[in-house]
Amino acid sequence: AYNFNAGPAALPLEVLRQAQEEFVDFQGIGMSIMEISHRSKQYEQVNDEAQALIKELLGIKSGYEVLFLQGGASTQFAMIPMNFQKPGQAAGYVLTGSWADKAIKEAQGIGETYVAASGQASGFRRIPDLGEIEVRPDAAYVHITSNETIAGSQYAAYPDTGSVPLIGDLSSDILCRPVDVSKFALIYAGAQKNLGPSGVTVSIIRDDLLQNEAKHLPTMLRYGTHSKSKSLYNTPPVYSVYIMNLVLKWIKGNGGLEAMERINRDKTKLIYDAIDGSGGFYQGLVEADSRSLMNITFAIGSEELEKKFIQESEQQGFVGLKGHRDVGHMRASTYNAVPYESCKALAEFMNDFRQRNG
Ligand code: PLP
Repeated sequence: AYNFNAGPAALPLEVLRQAQEEFVDFQGIGMSIMEISHRSKQYEQVNDEAQALIKELLGIKSGYEVLFLQGGASTQFAMIPMNFQKPGQAAGYVLTGSWADKAIKEAQGIGETYVAASGQASGFRRIPDLGEIEVRPDAAYVHITSNETIAGSQYAAYPDTGSVPLIGDLSSDILCRPVDVSKFALIYAGAQKNLGPSGVTVSIIRDDLLQNEAKHLPTMLRYGTHSKSKSLYNTPPVYSVYIMNLVLKWIKGNGGLEAMERINRDKTKLIYDAIDGSGGFYQGLVEADSRSLMNITFAIGSEELEKKFIQESEQQGFVGLKGHRDVGHMRASTYNAVPYESCKALAEFMNDFRQRNG
């Protein structure tokens, strides 16, 4: 299958093969890794290795901790205001689409928020200019959604928020390109796009944010709990972390984040070129400078043609090209594990479909 699913999404074939090999006998212990204690030395090694690899790939030398949490990125929407907002202090949110909207709605139930910038007027066809983002000096933090999985938009560069902590939801584009982590106080991401299977959420948190003990919060909802226990406070999603570790090794083995970005640019260029060179047959849903390297959204003139496109694409082995139900149209998700060949096949299919129906 040419897997363009938005998430859970494609995993590298090499990773799946290795997991298959180790499924019933992890490193000669005669059992699966799912069957042993999360406090065993074997699992602790996987946990440590994965945390170290995330730091290595992102070039983090010191000053941050990598946490493995549960509850998805959606739980981070709540944990962030709960842990970092003081009474009366507002938090800024940049509205770029559905996911930013979910994040602010969750925060609104917890504390005061303000819209720091919004792409709503453009129908979320573009990421606001960085200069438009209002950073109030007394804000608890400013929150951005690095890649809007549904709209298909992505920040080309990140804002500078000075002494106000910048928090980024990188759920759908983490490790797709190098990131200057020092711009952020906290980065979080559900794993199920670029990191591995669902079940684990990565949170990369700057040390000073851990100073706040947040004793008023339930234990599991405090970042400090997980930092003090190396993310082993309670039983972690062992298998998800194990697969994530293999994915991280796969990224490293393929040249790290510079290589990922190069490949992702080459992959997406094939599809964006098919859109741009179609003489208007295909219409991109996002302006060129806000386009995503991970989720490519486009429309065709009529509903009937879009239905036909989906039908024929499925017959030819393409999976997951139907747009999200909130926006419709088409979406091709081109995460790290989606091979160049799949994108080439899709571009060829798009050109062929246009010639037959244009
Ligand atoms: N943020 C973004 C950008 C997403 O794409 C998603 C899921 O698709 C989420 C948050 C929610 O993630 P989860 O399902 O892990 O809660």
